[in-house]
Amino acid sequence: MKKIIIFNWKMNVADFIRVDKNNEIEIVVCPPFTHLEKVKNSLSSKIKLGAQNCFWENEGAYTGEISPIMLKNLGVEYVIVGHSERRKYLNETDEMINKKVLAVLKARLRVVLCVGEPSRKSQIANRKAQISYAKQYVKKQLQKDLKTISSSRFAISNLIVAYEPVWAISTSGTGKICQPEDALEMIKFIKQTLNSKFSILNSRILYGGSVDGKNIKDFLKYKEIGGALVGGASLKKNEIKKIINLCRVIT
Ligand code: PEP
Repeated sequence: MKKIIIFNWKMNVADFIRVDKNNEIEIVVCPPFTHLEKVKNSLSSKIKLGAQNCFWENEGAYTGEISPIMLKNLGVEYVIVGHSERRKYLNETDEMINKKVLAVLKARLRVVLCVGEPSRKSQIANRKAQISYAKQYVKKQLQKDLKTISSSRFAISNLIVAYEPVWAISTSGTGKICQPEDALEMIKFIKQTLNSKFSILNSRILYGGSVDGKNIKDFLKYKEIGGALVGGASLKKNEIKKIINLCRVIT
């Protein structure tokens, strides 16, 4: 399976690089809603368009919201749902996130569901116990966020999960990074959890949290890690180039 690299601009406007030849990896750019059309028109067909959020209804009296169908009509193929910044600043609950996942899958778009524990527990001293805490946290998120999703109704290949330990996101302020081995262990665990719910073996799980041109290889060298969700580094052309070039070599 091709690795997927998703560049999330968050609430920023940036420049993307020109990519004319690319069969090795899947590249997705997620600008703010206001720039979807412009970015779509300036991207080559080798790059896919993604959105950072959506609402769970297709139309109606929901001031300020954007529906999956509206996004689809703009050429969007991927939608990020449940990003930790939306959970934190917009109080998005797992119940809301579940409705969004459902709506995106119904619209036959690809959903990128973000999960991850918010902090490292200072009272937990050893690595094993930290990871066990993280697994329990993420398992509960997955159970709630995917509560109404069944493999008989939807193409589960359209479900992508991004493991993003919130404390490792570059703007979290902790200055900590997640060790690739720990990310791998969590991603294997997420795969098992999805496998037991949906009976699928080839789920795509990405890693996100301070990924850049220096460390991306350390994560993507593992076949279980299906790609990366990139925040801060998406705003720097040099980093984008490095990330894409390195991913092509790994694949
Ligand atoms: C993110 O916020 O999803 C993210 C991965 O950000 P960064 O790469 O800046 O840590």
